[in-house]
Amino acid sequence: MDTAQVQARVLAAAQEARQRAYAPYSRFRVGAAVMLSDGVVIQGCNVENASYGLSVCAERVALWAAVAQGRHDFIAMGLAVASGTPCGACRQVLSELCPPDMPVWVITDDGAVQAFTVAQLLPAAFDASDLDREGTE
Ligand code: ZN
Repeated sequence: MDTAQVQARVLAAAQEARQRAYAPYSRFRVGAAVMLSDGVVIQGCNVENASYGLSVCAERVALWAAVAQGRHDFIAMGLAVASGTPCGACRQVLSELCPPDMPVWVITDDGAVQAFTVAQLLPAAFDASDLDREGTE
């Protein structure tokens, strides 16, 4: 599977997942899909809550669903959204779980596809190595 095929599959899966978004409050529906090294695609959509702070983004739903299935071998993500790019929280989670050079493609309602890597989305990320440093007291 070449890069164009991977991109087409994750974006199509993200668009499909977007239809299942539970977004009664914001009406901002988002779909995400991550591809694993064997070509398996796992979808996510945003899931909102009347207690707004409990709402979770599509990207994290997809990543956490994969982890819950014992999978960590991410090779690509697609995101389908009206406009915009992953939020800061999702960028941090992508940085934790995915390779820095992993592509993240975002398709917006205008049909444009933006391409990022995980490292481009969150340069100078906080990571596990930061926890190894001596704390200040
Ligand atoms: Zn997010």
